[in-house]
Amino acid sequence: MEKSILVSEVGLRDGLQSIDTIADLALKKQWIKAEAEAGVGEIEVGSFVNFKALPQMADTAELVRYAKTLPKLNVAVLVPNLRGARSAIECGAHKISIPVSASQTHSLRNVNRTHAQMIEEVRNIRTVIDAMPAGERPYFEAGIATAFGCTIEGHVPIETVVQLARDLIAAGAQEVGLSDTTGYADPGTIRTRIRAVHAAVGADRLTGVHLHNTRGLGLANALAALDEGITTLDASLGGLGGCPHAPGASGNIVTEDLVFMLESMGYETGIDLAALTKVRDIVLAGLPDEELYGFLPDAGIPLDWRRATLG
Ligand code: ZN
Repeated sequence: MEKSILVSEVGLRDGLQSIDTIADLALKKQWIKAEAEAGVGEIEVGSFVNFKALPQMADTAELVRYAKTLPKLNVAVLVPNLRGARSAIECGAHKISIPVSASQTHSLRNVNRTHAQMIEEVRNIRTVIDAMPAGERPYFEAGIATAFGCTIEGHVPIETVVQLARDLIAAGAQEVGLSDTTGYADPGTIRTRIRAVHAAVGADRLTGVHLHNTRGLGLANALAALDEGITTLDASLGGLGGCPHAPGASGNIVTEDLVFMLESMGYETGIDLAALTKVRDIVLAGLPDEELYGFLPDAGIPLDWRRATLG
């Protein structure tokens, strides 16, 4: 029996927002199209943030509209607030995610809002979504950022994460995600925090995690998450983005390496690994000054590589 795992590409959002180069619209469209054709089922194409602060994301609405023309692709966007959610709804995004930081200090610095204010924002977005015709509503998720620790506050208690998960679900998020924004997680904390949130809100209310490879534990963390029943994993092509706190460390877990691990183990991702590694050429050509990461692309697909299930 194969288990299917959704690999959600976040390089166009998390990766591109962390680099100085502003990727042009044509490159982004090429990237999205090539990944969708390689079988990637979900792509977070951008975010509806303040475009003055993050000009890299200024073409998000156009990208959503473009990505929606591609068959079988779930089009996701990140929204920091109600205003962003309205923009996402206007252009018809399939999924909207609002990041809510478990660290209150991080939340205040990042979006200038307390937990209570963010929960209120989630409630307001829910109201807007509920007013839409049933068939047109986007899937609404709240991603718990700094869920494993914060570069400002340091330790983030598990109780804080669990309580926030409860509050976000109660406020109308269909699901919460756990984000290792700072790369502080390890397989042990991945297990205990997923278990605790599952126990608090139900396993169907936490099915995805967002991992960074800042300290080299990205794939180990992904494996621990899979063992806890997680079925959606965010990843970034070429680990694009880097990390300002760890020179030489990639940003998100590398999509190519993750797909290689999953398919080798017999998980079904729907992704053609050879086609996926070719997408890298598009990104490299379009962003020649940026560093891409990943082991599989450098070492190549093993000779006679077969998915484990094929024997
Ligand atoms: Zn991230």
